[in-house]
Order: sequence, then structure tokens, then C-alpha cells
Amino acid sequence: MKNRLLKIGPISLGGGSPVRVESMLKKPLSSYDEALEQMMSLANSGCEMVRVAFPSLSDCENLARLIKDSPVAIMADIHFDPLLAEAAITAGCRSIRINPGNMGSPEKLDRVISMSKAEGVVIRIGANSGSVSPRQLKDAGGNRAAGLALAVEEQLKALQDRDFQDVILSAKSTDVMETVEANRILFDRYGDTYPFHIGITESGSGAAGIAKSASGIAILLSLGIGDTIRVSLSDRPEEEVYVGYEILKSLGLRKMGPEIISCPTCGRKKLDVVAVLPEIRPLLWGLPDGFKVAIMGCEVNGPQEARHADVGVAGSPSEAVFFKKGEIVDRRPLSELVKGMSLLLEPYRLKS
Ligand code: SF4
Repeated sequence: MKNRLLKIGPISLGGGSPVRVESMLKKPLSSYDEALEQMMSLANSGCEMVRVAFPSLSDCENLARLIKDSPVAIMADIHFDPLLAEAAITAGCRSIRINPGNMGSPEKLDRVISMSKAEGVVIRIGANSGSVSPRQLKDAGGNRAAGLALAVEEQLKALQDRDFQDVILSAKSTDVMETVEANRILFDRYGDTYPFHIGITESGSGAAGIAKSASGIAILLSLGIGDTIRVSLSDRPEEEVYVGYEILKSLGLRKMGPEIISCPTCGRKKLDVVAVLPEIRPLLWGLPDGFKVAIMGCEVNGPQEARHADVGVAGSPSEAVFFKKGEIVDRRPLSELVKGMSLLLEPYRLKS
């Protein structure tokens, strides 16, 4: 059964929509030009939703401008102050992230919810491992994943009690398996009702951060959990988006742009794959989504190992061997590798 279909600005989410890739603006709203520049860069990288910290009413005008100027859906991230939630909605924001438990009082939460209903605002709620209270952990029998799920459920109850249903759930930990377990608990109960935002919080940077995020997100997606993802990295937000799409592409869940398949090389290599990759990558512009280009180190195994690729090149002792779906179609001196690949790709380019 499909979960709820939500609409946030230009995108749909849940209800069978593609898994969305989101990030967070790392420039403050108070520096408007920088914030807009990063927003446009994120839009160009394919980011579909951007969470924006909205810490002060003095940023209200800039939030309204950003919502107008941004081609990407914006979610305002609000802590503690219900007036900020109201201001974000008034500024035109169609999704907010709040903790219903820290909106000051039940009456103040009532007001935020009734404004959200009136304006069709989606509310993301959620907890991370750092925000689970000692009482919640105790009520969960000391199980950290169950405590995390309980923290989310308590927030959800506050919205359900007010008959508010346009909700995204999120449970994140810095620990991969704790995140997976908390999401499984929640998904068992609410998976056929609400969309889930997934990710591993504060996963770090570089290879370690990417591996941690990718492991957690991939496990969850393989369980059918996750409607929107964020790869949380101590890095440029565009990098988060790039890694997010690579995860979805690897799992066959999204197709975005062409894909390079390259062998790791071994003692048989006749083509320096690492060295030629930067020369081949720029040739990929204008190719259809999901188009696969293989770069393989040797002719002995390369074309066959990469026969699922649309086109490819492999090294032989003195030549570059070009193939389509595993069938050799051309041979050229290695010095003509880029030219040969360019000719091979030309018929596949999308004409604008
Ligand atoms: S394609 Fe050739 S060079 Fe690359 S890993 Fe396989 S055997 Fe080694």
C-alpha cells in the first residue's frame, strides 16, 4: 500500500513518487547573496529540496525572497519558537521542520497546526539520537533505537491529536544500525501512512562519511523505507547531492545523467583507467539518463565484463578497443582514445 502523497512547492513526495534527494543550505539566510548563490548551485546539481535554518525573525524578509527566487522546494528548519514557524508560513514556505514538543505550549502548537492546515504546509518531525530524553530511553527499556522511535512517535501523536496528517517522519542516529532499527520500528507502524525522510546524522566527511551514509541509506531503501534522503556530510552541500544520487543510481532507484563503469584495474591492465577517466568524463555531456559508458583496463576481460554498458573502451597492448554492448566495433592507437570515444558517443547525444 502506498503512503501519503505530499506536495511541497514544485515536487511531490511519497505516494509512489521517486525517492527525493535533499540537502541543507550551509550559508546563513542573513547573508542573502551567498545563500542564493548556494541555492542556485544546489538547484544545478539536481537537489530537489533544501532545508534552510530559520533561526531569527530578522531573517524573515530574506526567507521570503529566497522562496521567490529559488527553483527548489524549501523547508524551513525551526527550533523552539512557534513565531518562527508562523513567520515561515506567512513568508510562503510550504514545509517546515519543527519539534511539536518544543513549541512553547499546546495553544501555540494549535496555532502553528491550524496555519499549516490552512496553507497546505507539510510538517517534518523527527528526532536524532542526541535528542532522546532520559525518560524516553527509560520507557523504551534502555534500547536506544526504540527510544529514538518513541521520541518520534510522541511528536507524531501531538500532530495526530490535532488531526494533522501531512507529515514526514525522520529518525536519525550517528550509528547506522541504530538508525536502521529505529526506522524499522516506525515503518512497521506508520510505513503505509507517512513518507519517511532518511539519513545518518553527522556522518563525517570523505570516504568514511560517504561509506557510513551510503550503508545506512542503502539498507533502509532496500527495506522499502525512505521517500527522501539526505547524505549528511561535513562537505559542500552539492557533494551531498552528488553522493545521494549515486546511492540511488547504484540501487537502480533513480536515473540521472549517464553513468561511467570502470574496472578497478589489475596486473593485466593495458589502459591506465585512472589516468584516462578525467579525459573521458567531459565527453559524457548530452547523453541520456542511465546511459552507461565503460572504461576497462584490458581487452581480455573488459568488453565481456562490461557487456551491459551501452558503449565502452578497453586497452589492448597497443590499441584502444571500442565496443557496443560487448561487441567490438573499432580499434585505434591509444593516442586516439579520446577521439574514438567521442565518435562512438556522438549518435547517442540528445539533440536540444
Ligand atoms: S578489465 Fe582487465 S584490467 Fe580491468 S580488472 Fe578486469 S582483468 Fe583487470
